[in-house]
Amino acid sequence: MPELDLVAAIRRLLPEPPGRVLRPPGDDAAVVRARALAITSLDTVVEGVHFSRATHSPADIGHKAAATALSDLAAMGAEPGEAYASLALPADLPEAEALALVEGMAGVCRRHGTALAGGDVVRSGILVITVAVTGWADSEDELAGRDGARPGDLVGVTGALGASGAGLLVIAGEADAVDADTVRALADAHRRPEPRLLAGRGLARSGVSALIDLSDGLATDARHLAAQSGVALELELEALPLAGGVAAVAEAAGRDARELAATAGEDYELLFTVPAGRWEAAGDAARQAGCAVTRLGVVLPGGGVILRDARGRALEGLRGYEHA
Ligand SMILES: [Mg+2]
Repeated sequence: MPELDLVAAIRRLLPEPPGRVLRPPGDDAAVVRARALAITSLDTVVEGVHFSRATHSPADIGHKAAATALSDLAAMGAEPGEAYASLALPADLPEAEALALVEGMAGVCRRHGTALAGGDVVRSGILVITVAVTGWADSEDELAGRDGARPGDLVGVTGALGASGAGLLVIAGEADAVDADTVRALADAHRRPEPRLLAGRGLARSGVSALIDLSDGLATDARHLAAQSGVALELELEALPLAGGVAAVAEAAGRDARELAATAGEDYELLFTVPAGRWEAAGDAARQAGCAVTRLGVVLPGGGVILRDARGRALEGLRGYEHA
């Protein structure tokens, strides 16, 4: 199918944009009614690096590309606005699969109030998708960054951890002795993570001191937050909330469940620090957004991340996925 026809077919499957998008896809550029602060992030996923077409359907890949980008808006506390996608598609990718990919992307955007407001389609040797997202805020105090953690603050996390990492193990066939429902749920968690946009907004507005999304794994992302804030995070491994099925998969794969949950990436939960007096307010804000919070530890002077086991011993060398 010629590119122009594909672009027209993509445009037909996108929903009518909201009123703030003054020029929908089809013009030379998008025109959007702005608010005071624009929060912009861009993510690229590459076949063979971030996903494989053998284990991810086109809709999974589109979902993942959009969810990854939107999760960074969640981590700032921004209100989602628009997404722009660049699709580099292999010549052998059938048109129906290209459209399924866009549908996967559009589905995440729709659920999170984001308008797919523009993009580009090119032919390429491998599948590469870049998604740029813009979120909005009316003032800086609605937002949170990685740099505000202070000694004495408490450390918390939304939701439960390890589902994506356990899902990757079941997809790779490394945890056979697990029931089919658990396998399906965890594989789905790996292929279709949902960004925590509402929780991110609630947490940022409740007065958390620092906020980051868990893309590379708790051990690594906590280190990013600690470095940016100039503090140390002391976390208790036993306190980690495990997602359902993670313990069973870890056992079947001969792994420690909490170490798996601390090091495997792509859970897209939110890690935050908060002054002790605001802990309740932060928890309430997250619960209103539909997710639990768990206290993992405290912020200390110094640097780096100290992960303690049940006996209080510091574990060395636990790291998540670190991008080159
Ligand atoms: Mg991030």
